[in-house]
Amino acid sequence: MVKASWLLTLKASWMADMGEPNNLEASICKCKAGRDMVWVSQKAVELMGPLGCSRKYMFEKWMRDSKIGDIYEGTQQLQKLVVARRIFGYSREELA
Ligand SMILES: Cc1cc2nc3c(=O)[nH]c(=O)nc-3n(C[C@H](O)[C@H](O)[C@H](O)COP(=O)(O)OP(=O)(O)OC[C@H]3O[C@@H](n4cnc5c(N)ncnc54)[C@H](O)[C@@H]3O)c2cc1C
Repeated sequence: MVKASWLLTLKASWMADMGEPNNLEASICKCKAGRDMVWVSQKAVELMGPLGCSRKYMFEKWMRDSKIGDIYEGTQQLQKLVVARRIFGYSREELA
């Protein structure tokens, strides 16, 4: 799961480096990596039990911070809209 997010991010970055239009790939990797980050940090808190919620360790902070990665620079829902528009060839007006 995390490896797939990493590879998708590498692909979108490589396309940007090559000057290729990559908004589909960038939205796919933002969508997936944002979701995976939240899932992984939640699992870490669960695995650590009470210590996972303690401020003595970073787990609960990582879980709070991971959700930001899923919100800014375009939320999960907006990324899915970009992907659907590109895949199905809809315009912004047709799929808002
Ligand atoms: C910690 C933090 C740092 C930030 N830093 C920056 C920054 O440096 N620069 C900057 O410009 N912005 C920054 N932002 C703003 C961030 O980019 C926006 O909060 C984010 O894009 C969501 O926009 P919004 O808050 O206006 O929510 P809205 O756009 O009002 O969305 C609210 C909810 O409705 C959903 N939604 C909205 N439209 C649709 C739709 N058409 N279909 C389905 N669902 C929809 C969204 O997914 C979201 O869940 C930051 C935000 C945070 C929390």
